[in-house]
Amino acid sequence: MRGFVSCGECHHPMTSNFSTGRHGTKFPYYVCRHRGCEKFGKSVARAKVEGAFEELLRQLVPSPELFALISKLFRKRWNEAEAKVKETRTSMKLEVASLEKKIAQFLDRIVESGSATVIGAYERKVEELERSKLVMLQKNRAMRHVCKRL
Ligand SMILES: [Zn+2]
Repeated sequence: MRGFVSCGECHHPMTSNFSTGRHGTKFPYYVCRHRGCEKFGKSVARAKVEGAFEELLRQLVPSPELFALISKLFRKRWNEAEAKVKETRTSMKLEVASLEKKIAQFLDRIVESGSATVIGAYERKVEELERSKLVMLQKNRAMRHVCKRL
């Protein structure tokens, strides 16, 4: 963790080193090499520094209670979003059905009408309704891809 560990006294990064024991065993340690620091040359065993770091990490991990709370909130939001998509898709289906009904009505009027002008107007109206229906169906399909479970 060289570069990350800083001296408690002067806050400068500490250097790491090994000291050799009597039987050739190596002891890793961190030491402050900042001139003028009160702790200059004083070493701290690596195990002590890293043990303290591990303890710090443990404290950063959310408790099971906090984790449960977060997942509960997430699930709630997810369900709300899911319900909204479902609702939108239902209203889209109703909209498509109503467009189809209108189209059928105009087609009936075209058959009944003798006037070419009126027929032309109805045909344009049918085209317009068909386009709206297509857009609605495409949106519905896109939403189904987003939320396959629905
Ligand atoms: Zn220092």
